Amino acid sequence: MTSGRSRFRPSSSVARQKLAAAQRADLGRPPLGTRLTGYTPKGEVIQDEAEIVRVVFDRFTGGDSLRAIAAWLGETGVKTRRGGAWSPSTVATILKNPRYAGRAVYNGKPTGKPGDWEPIVTPEVFDRAQRRLDDPRRKTHHEGYDRRHLGAGLYRCGRCGKAMHSHTGARYRCPAGCLIRSAVPIDELVCGVVAARLARPDLAELLPTVDVEEVRAITGEIDRLTARIEEIEQDYDEGNIDGRRYRTATEKVQAELTAARSRLVRLTGSVGAAGDVLRADDPAEAFAAAPLMIRRSVIDLLLEVRVLTSPRGRRGFDPETVALTWKVA
Ligand SMILES: [Zn+2]
Repeated sequence: MTSGRSRFRPSSSVARQKLAAAQRADLGRPPLGTRLTGYTPKGEVIQDEAEIVRVVFDRFTGGDSLRAIAAWLGETGVKTRRGGAWSPSTVATILKNPRYAGRAVYNGKPTGKPGDWEPIVTPEVFDRAQRRLDDPRRKTHHEGYDRRHLGAGLYRCGRCGKAMHSHTGARYRCPAGCLIRSAVPIDELVCGVVAARLARPDLAELLPTVDVEEVRAITGEIDRLTARIEEIEQDYDEGNIDGRRYRTATEKVQAELTAARSRLVRLTGSVGAAGDVLRADDPAEAFAAAPLMIRRSVIDLLLEVRVLTSPRGRRGFDPETVALTWKVA
């Protein structure tokens, strides 16, 4: 397995190293010297990290912004490969790497050959992520404009089914030109209905994919382990334990912490950014206070919104002109 490595390693010239790298790529072997989140340097899958990579792809292809994914990774406590904080660009770096789909890469480009390592995502999921990364509307609408317009790209036109766009004068417009409607009354209606649903005591039943109690338990476990590490560090600082015991103790707790965080990622990944609101002590209040992108995620998880035409000449807002369908029981 490492024959390629020993054969190419003695080379000292840049040219020979490049040749070796090209040959490795040609043979579908993982490049030397770089470790991707999710793989050991030899290209073996690290399950906990692979799970995080999968969730990053799922959330992005499911409509989350790079910023929302970075914020969520930060909250779960997962670090980047270099131990730093996540940013939209480090999230994009993961999404753009064809090696996750098992495709060999040379000079940043796929060689067209399969790699000899285990893929973490399917080629279909990877290609879907590339299409969304390349979609200019993602930047203009979803990352920018939609911040001010709750339902843009989320509500559907009641006539043709296309996603509504933001339009001047705080309005929504069907891109096919079917209808234009004032945004504020529709947003107020949708938010009111969602908040009322969130206030009901059977919220946990409403979310079969998320075990709210288990998430609370794991969050508690993470807090406890984090506090334990601080205790051990304090013991070491005060000279109560020596360096060897300090390392043994922190390594054990750190391993438990990583496992707990990865369980949290698995549990909360499926509901995306909405999870923060749903797990809050008062979900309805958390929803009202949440940033626009988070509110969008909650609405998207719970409700299908179809905007219908408003009869001409009608004054005031008629709630009947917005069709709301629950996506959950
Ligand atoms: Zn339409």
